[in-house]
Order: sequence, then C-alpha cells, then structure tokens
Amino acid sequence: MIDTHCHLDDPVYEADFDTVLAAQQAAGVERILVPGVDADNAQAVLDVCRRSHGYLLPAIGLHPENIHADWQDQLDRLHQLLTIPQAPYIAIGEIGLDYHADLTYKEEQKQAFITQLEWAQEQDLPVMIHCREATQDCLDLLRHTMLKKPLHGVMHCFSGSNEVARQIVDMGLYLGIGGVITFKNCLLREHLGNIPIERIVLETDAPYMTPVPYRGKRNESRFIQYVIEALSTVYGLPTDEIDRITSQNARCLFRLKDEK
Ligand SMILES: [Zn+2]
Repeated sequence: MIDTHCHLDDPVYEADFDTVLAAQQAAGVERILVPGVDADNAQAVLDVCRRSHGYLLPAIGLHPENIHADWQDQLDRLHQLLTIPQAPYIAIGEIGLDYHADLTYKEEQKQAFITQLEWAQEQDLPVMIHCREATQDCLDLLRHTMLKKPLHGVMHCFSGSNEVARQIVDMGLYLGIGGVITFKNCLLREHLGNIPIERIVLETDAPYMTPVPYRGKRNESRFIQYVIEALSTVYGLPTDEIDRITSQNARCLFRLKDEK
C-alpha cells in the first residue's frame, strides 16, 4: 500500500506521531506522501518527513483554499524553497481550484494554478491536483498547460462522473481514490467501472475522508485497506492484486525507487 496523499503534519497527529507512524509500517503501508498547502506549513511538512527517515515524502504547493491577498508572496516563498539545491520534493501539490466556499480569489486561484503547473514542468515533477466544483476550469487549464509541455500527476480525492474520469485518464493523469469510495450510496463505484485500474493510485487525505467503518474518526494510511476492498469489488480482482497494481502505479508516477 502506498498512501499518495496524507497530511501527517496536521496537529492532530502531534501527540502520538511516532506511534501512528509505527502502526502504518506494521500494517504494510510502504510509503506515505505528504502534500504541502502553503508557505507557512512547508517547514512542518519537511519536519515530519525528516523525522520519519525517508518513510514520508514531501510535496510543496499552494492549496487553492489558501489563496488570499498575500498569494503572490506565498508563491515567491514556495518557489524559493522549491529551487534550493537538492530540494527534497517529489511533487508539486496540492494545487488546483476550489470554488466551493469562496469565489473572492477565483482569478488568482487560476493564475496560481497555472504558475505552479509550470513549476512542475520546469522541475520535471508530478502534480497533486485538488479540484472542487471547478472541473471545467481545471481541465481547461490543464489542457492548455499541457499543449506546451507534458505534465504528469494525479487528480486527488476524485469523486466525479465517469465522463470526467475518462477525460482525466485520457490526458494521461491518474485518479487518486480514497475513503469516498467506501461511503454508502457512493456513485464512484459505478463511475470507475471502465476506467483501467492502471490509472488509479490510492490515498487517504488523512486526517479527513476516513473510510467506512471508521468514518468520523481520525484517518490513517492503514485504512486504505478498506479502499482496496471496495476497488476489489468494483474490478472483480483480488485485494492483493489491487494493492500490487495501485502501488506500482504510485511508484511509477512519483518515481519511488526502493520497491518492496
Ligand atoms: Zn489534501
């Protein structure tokens, strides 16, 4: 199991961080990727990754919900961190568009998204994309950026329609599937039916999006086993096959070396 999106720098893990980490390793979680959300949390992300001795891998980015009046200053600070020699980042993320709560900075969200997609192209890094209630703009900006240069990445926490899934996969991107697929009455199980399992990576988005049967509790990477079980039903494949293929997808997308 590889958790491609987990906010282990969140304060909810502070008190028992080492215990939490040991529990993930004991449960067979191979690697955990920790996205950044702004310049202020970038150090916290690096700190938890260092503390894990390479078990956690850091990404860096400005989350669309964190785009406010200081967004350009945030981008400047992030770009400095990204471009220091031997920067440890394995991806740019999470970045994207979020029109759910607040449209004040809609145009700035788009500009920041394009800028960070271009960073990914310059640095030859994959992207972790957050897209909420902004599908058309998100796909348009991705397509536009890809006209100039290829781009690799994952649409994190995907829960959209089959048609949108198809478009994302056709662009060469992966779908990040997490706890949502275990929720009762979730249409995602039907929507994934004809999407190749080779285009799916697993994630928690912990501490959020906890799968059934732990819904409502603090999420952990090891609960990905419930996502694997749901995908096993969708694809009619044994759970260890789902685990093997999706782990290989994550290693490929994020160029993770030491395979198990
Ligand atoms: Zn996230």
